[in-house]
Amino acid sequence: MKSSLILLAMALSLTSTMAHTSKILSPQKTFPFGSDGRTLEGVSKNTIYLTFDDGPTSEATPAILDILKEYNIKATFFVVGRMARAHESILAEIRSQGHRLANHSYNHELSFKSDQEFIDTLNDTHEVIERYMQPGDISLFRAPGGNWKDWQALAANGNASARKYVGPIFWNVGGGNGNAKDDADWKCWKTWWVSARKCGKSYIEQIENNYNRGRASLVLMHDINRKSADMLEYILKKLTSSRSKVQWKFELISNIPAVKENTK
Ligand SMILES: [Zn+2]
Repeated sequence: MKSSLILLAMALSLTSTMAHTSKILSPQKTFPFGSDGRTLEGVSKNTIYLTFDDGPTSEATPAILDILKEYNIKATFFVVGRMARAHESILAEIRSQGHRLANHSYNHELSFKSDQEFIDTLNDTHEVIERYMQPGDISLFRAPGGNWKDWQALAANGNASARKYVGPIFWNVGGGNGNAKDDADWKCWKTWWVSARKCGKSYIEQIENNYNRGRASLVLMHDINRKSADMLEYILKKLTSSRSKVQWKFELISNIPAVKENTK
């Protein structure tokens, strides 16, 4: 542990001089991901990773599970601990259908007052989801709002339970990454006059844009609004159509080479 802290300190001093270009804390074993581009290195460009944040909810999660089942596609659910505790039967259903449960904090905190507060939110959520995880499942963390600070890696690496986590898992489809029109599903909920189909089209454009740049897609959606389920249905119908020019491949985040590498 001592040596890894020294390594981290070295990595921090290195990154402080190029803070705007990289937040990656390599060679740390856990929490090494500061940019989606590096996370997806070595992944073929027709690969799509579907992720759903902020649930589970009875409004959207069961509908999303039904659609995923229809297309036989597995996804990763970054659940909020508080929501997970309130909907444990849905948690069980998510995992029993072959999807993965991941950690998105306990109360969707966008900032933390102390190291301990961050460790607590991570471990409290882990306590809820671990009962439904299966042997060999990788522990993944996504920071709420994508807000991530280097000190969080230091705090996580210094805690016996949090240390097993890999993260933060960013995304490159679904807003906030300067991709395409930067559309997110939650923006679609606000614009009630825009159809789920139109919102779904925007996601497909972002995925195709990544493909044209030689990149795989890590897609962010939220399972707290029914409109996201409707968008998903449209997106999957289009991408799996026999008329689609690309043969898309849907994978779990736990199969990303960089993720696997960091759990060894
Ligand atoms: Zn979130």
